Amino acid sequence: MNATQNTTIGEPFECVERAAAQVLAEIGPYTAVVNDPPWSRLAPGAPPPKHLVAAANMDVKHLDTLVAPILGTGSEVVVGIGGGTALDTAKYVAWKCDLPLIQIPTITSVDAGFTEAIGVRIDGNVHYVGTVVPQQVVLDLELIGSAPKRLNRAGIGDILSCHTGLHDWRAAVDAGHSPDWNEALAALGAELLAELDDAIDDIADVNPAGIRFLADAYRRIGAACAAAGHSRFEEGSEHFWAYAYEHKTGAHHVHGELIAFATVAVAHVQRNGAEFASRLVTRSKAVAHPADLGIEREVFIKTLVGLRDYARGQNLDIGVADLHEITPQAAGDAWAFVSTLPRRNKKAVD
Ligand SMILES: [Zn+2]
Repeated sequence: MNATQNTTIGEPFECVERAAAQVLAEIGPYTAVVNDPPWSRLAPGAPPPKHLVAAANMDVKHLDTLVAPILGTGSEVVVGIGGGTALDTAKYVAWKCDLPLIQIPTITSVDAGFTEAIGVRIDGNVHYVGTVVPQQVVLDLELIGSAPKRLNRAGIGDILSCHTGLHDWRAAVDAGHSPDWNEALAALGAELLAELDDAIDDIADVNPAGIRFLADAYRRIGAACAAAGHSRFEEGSEHFWAYAYEHKTGAHHVHGELIAFATVAVAHVQRNGAEFASRLVTRSKAVAHPADLGIEREVFIKTLVGLRDYARGQNLDIGVADLHEITPQAAGDAWAFVSTLPRRNKKAVD
């Protein structure tokens, strides 16, 4: 796949453009870990799995109940089919069952299919418990293109987060914190942001060029994170705030939408080109206005002002909240800024 001329750091996962049903017909006995949709749509055209797991949530207690039923079914491979929950659940059970993994992302809203870190929730907080490298990532452009456009546009979140992630990392290094600055990783982050800017209308259209760009960007991000052993160039206070917010409210959002919202808000707090982030979110047509996401002002301000305590409690990387005091005034200003994003009628964004 060669969507753009680009930099790659680390060894990216093998990614092929093929029809998902065709792949399933060739892999032998498999356990499918799915979201539905699209499973019901895909299943009639594919050989039935030995075992079917409907992905539900990433709580480790729940995930552990899924493992034993897979063993003894004769499954020789685990296939993740769907969005973030299906792909993340597939990673966990493949790792626990020691079976090869094939990932078939059917929306481009998250990078889960292209990262090797296995993230689970323990008492509502995200923990990384291991790594698994998929044998193959399958890109079925037609299947992805048939998903609600909203879910594909949300894919900007985990790329746009380079904007605030890089800023956090630079500031943390300047204040004497590890990991050390890495010029190649920083350049990759900057390059991804420039390419995102160029591809933004294709992403808004959810055309093949837009889908290919998102998948290829995730692939490069996943490879770079694996090579570096951290994800500082791509994950910073926008993610940390999202974790704090989800922990406090128990809310479950489309990951990329929450991250797109948070990147605009955190860029404002960082005084870091918030207009750039806002412009890209606007042009992508992604749903990111707080009222569309059901985010309330009071909770936003409380979690942003309290981000330092949350981040220290969770031992997250050093970010803007550690280096500067985020006052209720600054949080209120960020809220006012992010509230200037366009509203999207959720039913009309298709
Ligand atoms: Zn993310």
